[in-house]
Amino acid sequence: MFGNLFGRNEEPVDVSDKVIKISKARCPQNHACPSVRVCPVGALKQKGYGLPHADMSKCVKCGKCINYCPMRAIYFE
Ligand code: SF4
Repeated sequence: MFGNLFGRNEEPVDVSDKVIKISKARCPQNHACPSVRVCPVGALKQKGYGLPHADMSKCVKCGKCINYCPMRAIYFE
């Protein structure tokens, strides 16, 4: 059974057992993360221009941060 449905190609993906990961290699860490603003529950945090961190105790796995990141640095794993 699918929990929250999310897929970059609009195909349903079961993310119920996944967590948000943020790629150090993809994130340039030189700007205010635009995805922080779109998180509906304030689960995504950033210190300065550092690599954002997702608090999975708050995250509802909506996938908005993933879709919003222009560098595609945020993903479920
Ligand atoms: S998946 Fe949704 S709730 Fe979770 S960190 Fe991203 S925007 Fe926030």
